[in-house]
Amino acid sequence: MSFVICYSFYAVCSMVIGHQTQWGFLQKIATAGQTPHALLFSGQNNLGKRKAAGDFIKLLNCQNKQDNEFCGQCFSCVNFESQRHPDLLVIKPSSKEIKIDQIRDLQKFLSYSNQAAKTKAVIIDEAHCLNQEAQSCLLKCLEEPSGVAMIILITSQPEELLATIRSRCEEIKFYPLAKEVIDEALFAQQSNPRLAEMIDLADGRPGLVISFLADNKLMESRLADFKLAKQLLASGLTERLILIKDYYLSLAKNNQDEEEAVIDNSEAFGAINQFLENLLIFLRHSLKKCLANGQNGQALTKLVQNLRQTEDLKFLLINSNINKRLLLENLVINL
Ligand SMILES: [Zn+2]
Repeated sequence: MSFVICYSFYAVCSMVIGHQTQWGFLQKIATAGQTPHALLFSGQNNLGKRKAAGDFIKLLNCQNKQDNEFCGQCFSCVNFESQRHPDLLVIKPSSKEIKIDQIRDLQKFLSYSNQAAKTKAVIIDEAHCLNQEAQSCLLKCLEEPSGVAMIILITSQPEELLATIRSRCEEIKFYPLAKEVIDEALFAQQSNPRLAEMIDLADGRPGLVISFLADNKLMESRLADFKLAKQLLASGLTERLILIKDYYLSLAKNNQDEEEAVIDNSEAFGAINQFLENLLIFLRHSLKKCLANGQNGQALTKLVQNLRQTEDLKFLLINSNINKRLLLENLVINL
């Protein structure tokens, strides 16, 4: 398999990795020929939800389907894969939000006749970014389904969607995979000497391993985040405040002194969001280790508190305009 295909939008490898129950359910829907108007794929980032959505659309439309699997070679499969199919619309957030105009485009898209596909498809990626207006507009589309079309909402935060939207979708939940499942799928195809380390760091999320394979820097930055997390948890308050100040200033474009540091807001958002995600992974690993060793009491309680606090702050970072430096300081004060 070529490098380009391997790292394209949908294709991690020829088939979705793991998620056999979910894929089996989707195959049944495809066989029954009674496709629900809307599906909601929920679960953490990088589990393979997008890949499963893409594969399902291919399965519905494949011109050479065999044994309930798509061929990956026909006009339909190739063009859905490359997102160039005229009957596919992919909606993503532009600057953190999905706006009403994008849902109006969806309405227009649905009103046209299918050009080549049996089932026209819309993917709304990061659906939790739909703003209120856009959600209300989408709700109308879901209430009045038109033609043979399938809308797939993909999200890591389904609770951000209106209950009325969720109730009109068939929800399919995705969970982190066992390490062995990712091992089996990727070791057969990849010979990167650091693959085992990548799978270990990915914490059950195959999409992350693919990102590591495509971008070595991403793995290095994850390792740096883990190192910082470890240092923070082993330090006293004063040291933690110094560490987090240094981390924050390291995000400055110009690497200047504290007074002159220029921090790009959107770049800092991405880096801090990633750091909090990595801190959560680190804390979950520590919690698992703690439980496996039969530890309980104070250490365990503290880890659970840290997890909750980090989740809350991550939520605040994503959903408000909170001062990022204050957020980080708050995090380390309470660790
Ligand atoms: Zn095909």
